[in-house]
Amino acid sequence: MASNRDKATDQLKDFKDNPTKVLDNVTTKFGCPIGDKTNTLTIGPRGPVLLQDVQYIEELASFDRERIPERVVHAKGAGAFGYFEVTKPDITKYCKAKVFDTVGKKTPLAIRFSTVGGESGSADTARDPRGFAVKIYTEEGNWDLVGNNTPIFFIRDPILFPSFIHTQKRNPQTHLKDPDMFWDFISLRPETTHQVSFLFSDRGIPDGYRHMNGYGSHTFKLVNNKEEAVYTKFHWRVDQGIKNLDTTKAAQLSGDDPDYSIRDLYNAIENKNYPTWTLKIQVMTYEQAKTWRFNPFDLTKVWPHKDFPLIEVGKMVLNRNPSNYFAEVEQMAFEPSNLIPGIEASPDKMLQGRLFSYADTHRHRLGANYNQMPVNRPKCPVMHPTERDGPYCYDDNQGNLPNYWPNSFMTSKCNPKYKESRDTNVTGDIDRFDSSNDDNFEQVTDFWTKVLTADERERLANNIGGHLVSAQPFIQERTISNFEKVHPEFGEKIRLAIKKVKSANL
Ligand code: NDP
Repeated sequence: MASNRDKATDQLKDFKDNPTKVLDNVTTKFGCPIGDKTNTLTIGPRGPVLLQDVQYIEELASFDRERIPERVVHAKGAGAFGYFEVTKPDITKYCKAKVFDTVGKKTPLAIRFSTVGGESGSADTARDPRGFAVKIYTEEGNWDLVGNNTPIFFIRDPILFPSFIHTQKRNPQTHLKDPDMFWDFISLRPETTHQVSFLFSDRGIPDGYRHMNGYGSHTFKLVNNKEEAVYTKFHWRVDQGIKNLDTTKAAQLSGDDPDYSIRDLYNAIENKNYPTWTLKIQVMTYEQAKTWRFNPFDLTKVWPHKDFPLIEVGKMVLNRNPSNYFAEVEQMAFEPSNLIPGIEASPDKMLQGRLFSYADTHRHRLGANYNQMPVNRPKCPVMHPTERDGPYCYDDNQGNLPNYWPNSFMTSKCNPKYKESRDTNVTGDIDRFDSSNDDNFEQVTDFWTKVLTADERERLANNIGGHLVSAQPFIQERTISNFEKVHPEFGEKIRLAIKKVKSANL
């Protein structure tokens, strides 16, 4: 807990000073005024309690149902609201999405930042990737760019995702985080080497959510008004500058203020110190994609800046905190399948897996009509007459519209201008193609030799060694041999770091 009072600790005081409208009398949730809310209805002063105390029974029943299923990943998070503003016209030659069509145009948005592996009560300062999920409520529907603070991910084939996440979470018997599980999987799948190197580098523990970049991470397609398509990557470059926590400070905060990042974001916005990010894109033509030396749809790889320079598009400003965490953050549902005309999916296998999985998890977590919740509802009109009913329908359920398509009674059309672009590039044999050895190390070598300073390299190797030391020796060896393939010095430094921890523990 922060010891000094701040905007977060003053929330109730501020509420009292600026009261929202409340009724004179408290009521049941069905509107019936309540006369006494602090004493149960009993026979005599000592009880027993009567079942006819329906106000009390109703409140207990409601309390019993307060929790919804926790997100399997990204359970701990913070949300905020703001807008996206177009600052440069350059994207319009690639993309017809109306959200980008005019410089100066502002569109409302919501964001949720998160850690990935921990439960909803876990510490914000864990070494973990950070979720960076943006929902832009465009005039053509919601566009969700559901990324992380890293431009890449651990794996490139989504069939590995459930296993990968299991290894980052708890052992099924001990219910403990398990270094054998963690490093066994990492070392068996060397495509993880790039992201593991980011994770254990300084950027692995960002200083709150206001000092890190966001990335759409996947390759997407942009389509313009002439139906010409290119591939793209989205980058949210942080305007406050990158800041990270060192491991000692992060460990201290894990105990003293486990909600550090939520508090930091809340206070910044309440103090009108609004955080901003600049949206940039990289563009790769279909021709470049055919001949590029890496697979452009491989989520373990970046597109080098010098080959695919960043092009500025706009900025995101966060200027409102949620007024209710559960309604506006816990129930916020992001799905990479929320794409708008002009932005389409690429063949990226990980993206394809997520196109299904996110909406499906929300159907489980929030119910089939989660799209009707205020925070998830588009701000443009909707008409989807064939999707109806289901549990917890909150709106008019599309009223009296016919519920089948086509029908002879509605004047509405599906305009072909909104069809996905035609893609003539996809041909091939159907098989389960092994991608485990698809250039796993070259970009990590660049990272080690060209991006990191000597001090950063030292800390990276020490951070890996300090964690890997707890795994079994054969797993350590296999892991080190992967890092040796990045650079012999990298492997050697990890080996030394393990030795140092072992001798310190003797
Ligand atoms: P550049 O020199 O143009 O880019 C290097 C990039 O590395 C920087 O722009 C920064 O990305 C990022 N970076 C710097 N320090 C760290 C760190 N401690 N942890 C993670 N990322 C960091 O070279 P290239 O584009 O050719 O990339 C070289 C290597 O840099 C890549 O192989 C990859 O490992 C790494 N990288 C590249 C990114 C890209 O999109 N091209 C993005 C992130 C890392 P940013 O500008 O996004 O902050």
